[in-house]
Amino acid sequence: MALIVQKFGGSSVGDADKIKHVARRVIETQAAGNQVVVVVSAMGDTTDELIDLAQSVSTDPYAAPREMDMLLTSGERISMALLAIAINSLGANSRSFTGSQAGIMTSAKHGDARIAEVTPTRIQEALDAGDIAIVAGFQGFNKDSKDITTLGRGGSDTTAVALAAALNADVCEIYSDVDGIYTADPRVIPAAHKLDAIDIESMLELAAAGAKILHIRAVEYARRHNVDLRVRSTFSTDPGTIVYSTKPAGANMEEPVVSGIATDKGQAKIMVIGIPDVPGKAAEVFTVVAEAGANIDMIVQNTPTGSDVVDAVSDIGFTLPKGDLAKVAAALEANKAKLGFRVVEVDDEIGKLSVVGAGMRTHSGVSATLFKALADASINIEMISTSEIRISVITSDVQLDDAARAVHTAFGLDSDIDAVVYAGTGR
Ligand code: ASP
Ligand code: MG
Repeated sequence: MALIVQKFGGSSVGDADKIKHVARRVIETQAAGNQVVVVVSAMGDTTDELIDLAQSVSTDPYAAPREMDMLLTSGERISMALLAIAINSLGANSRSFTGSQAGIMTSAKHGDARIAEVTPTRIQEALDAGDIAIVAGFQGFNKDSKDITTLGRGGSDTTAVALAAALNADVCEIYSDVDGIYTADPRVIPAAHKLDAIDIESMLELAAAGAKILHIRAVEYARRHNVDLRVRSTFSTDPGTIVYSTKPAGANMEEPVVSGIATDKGQAKIMVIGIPDVPGKAAEVFTVVAEAGANIDMIVQNTPTGSDVVDAVSDIGFTLPKGDLAKVAAALEANKAKLGFRVVEVDDEIGKLSVVGAGMRTHSGVSATLFKALADASINIEMISTSEIRISVITSDVQLDDAARAVHTAFGLDSDIDAVVYAGTGR
């Protein structure tokens, strides 16, 4: 008998009919001879609506982070109970559990707690009794504060992966309204095609590079605990995409040079121009940035060359989330005299394009193909960064989609048939 964890996102449980549909799917999975644990997100846009409600009673609801978690966890509790009621009315047995009842212990940080320990005793008991166990996603419990916590937006994926790891499940299925992992966002690149399989390292790079389909912390958790994921649609029978944490035994798979392309329009760029070219300046700049509380992504520095350079200055540039731009620029300005730069330039009209593939480890020429495709499409590259299995470039935001299409074609990823887009969000 296999143990399957199935996670259904908000769009899969968006209304009563969808909940009944999920109930039937879950019962079918059990009837096929499996033990089933189901993790649910809040119905549709419930979480956003709850945040709106909080904002209508306070100008700063996050000043009460404990109460925000009490509020937001109610969304998942509605779906879990409704799904259990629906399943039971169809003649199968199910029981729902909150995160704390399911044994999900977290750090104390409200709104962004990390899973510390999972002891799913009650889930195991329900399974042993032949029941379908339903768990509210995105939430846990801190032992010291004895308070309910949430795992951050999109955290139900992480709940599912953590339960799959703790229960030693055979597979963790992530259901949403898209058919699986595509070579690119099919709304931007209609010629994108669905992957049958992808290695988890590449999935992690794609998620970090802006692919929205899986929550990055869930992918990290799956990699650490060797959980295989299957990403598939609630509304079709397509088997979706398997995200494997270890290469399937006996498989003689050649790692694709490029598995996929991700785009991200959520970044902005700061250039610190004319900063003294002496040791320690980069450390000073990034200390100011870190103290402002921003996570930076790409960094470039140009260094003056030539023997005639006196009183040399250089430029340091970096990218960061758009939402952090104003506060970081202000922090740098406030330290202008100390840092000794000439001027800070900000640009929030950039886009990031990333090309990811495990086969890059063993293939050369990937950057040449990428840069040639961009050159042929007359797209200017502003910054470049690489990892072992990823190359990212910054372009202007208006050129990003064209850049992605050109690169998708250049790496031979185009399919002849246009992808079916159900206008889904993948959540
Ligand atoms: N309902 C939560 C959110 O919308 C958690 C989730 O959907 O995974 O962020
Ligand atoms: Mg949601």
